Amino acid sequence: MKKILLIGTGGTIASDVTSDGLVPELTTEQLLAHIPAISEICEVDCVQLLNLDSTNMTPEHWLMMARCLRQHYARYDGFVITHGTDTMAYTAAALSYLVQSSPKPIILTGAQKPIGFDSTDSKVNLIDAFRCASEDLPGVSIVFNNKVILGTRARKTRSKSFQAFSSINYPHLGVLRDGVLLRYIRQDCGAAPVFYDALNTKVALLKLTPGVDRAQADFLLERNDALIIESFGVGGLPEHGGFYDCVREWMDAGKLIVLTTQVPSEGSDLGVYHVGYRLKRDLGVLEAYDMTTEAVVAKLMWILGQTQDRAWAERLFYTPIAKDILWPVD
Ligand code: ASP
Repeated sequence: MKKILLIGTGGTIASDVTSDGLVPELTTEQLLAHIPAISEICEVDCVQLLNLDSTNMTPEHWLMMARCLRQHYARYDGFVITHGTDTMAYTAAALSYLVQSSPKPIILTGAQKPIGFDSTDSKVNLIDAFRCASEDLPGVSIVFNNKVILGTRARKTRSKSFQAFSSINYPHLGVLRDGVLLRYIRQDCGAAPVFYDALNTKVALLKLTPGVDRAQADFLLERNDALIIESFGVGGLPEHGGFYDCVREWMDAGKLIVLTTQVPSEGSDLGVYHVGYRLKRDLGVLEAYDMTTEAVVAKLMWILGQTQDRAWAERLFYTPIAKDILWPVD
């Protein structure tokens, strides 16, 4: 029987009702007590790493999870991390960069309703996660509502219903039907994982709104090493408000600037319109193409944790990791 490590970090799945709203309080052992059938699937050991609402999760917690995986990696066949849904997609992306090429499954799951509620998705998600962690499913993924989503491609797209996550610009890795994993895609992996232990958190995100000028970008760039701009459509910047000068000046000062889109699916293509073309051709900004914003945030933190060299950082940005970017980059 496979040996799986359950790493608890909190979230709705582990929450109890209090007079001040739902609070993660249940331990990993208490979660397991709700699913006795698990003993027929795998052997489970537990680590209670955190017990947080994932709104309170920080990059320091991502590093804690990566260290925990590294510490226990050799002794287990797979890993299940229970986590709040609100920032699970960011954590899944971050772990995809911090633990690369893992031949063993690293599965994140959680729930929209606490495990103690009559109508809960916790039990099915947890059992599915253990099933997947016991399979040959390399790398980091999210198992939720019977779907398996690659860690670099997940986004929370529904705040209440059980189908909380979507796979963005990439197919599901598989589905679970009646407790059987039907795998559509097998992730590439190495013979052994590569662990990283550094992140630079000075990465900011600006969502454009019509009429905005450069002041907000200046504010963020003064305080950070990289800025992601979620622009409109396939991508571009307003030709008023000083944005082009802003981008040129801050890039000359050594900052990384990435253009992406606030449209949920299909990604950016800066070359299409005049408002984007010049940014790419004359200024050489980076562009996210089909990457999720969650993955861009985590990838920039990982890259800037390794290097401050601009050319090397740009090369790393366009290097596909865990299938995070597929766009043919020239
Ligand atoms: N606020 C909760 C969290 O992210 C929501 C959930 O887990 O579904 O921790």
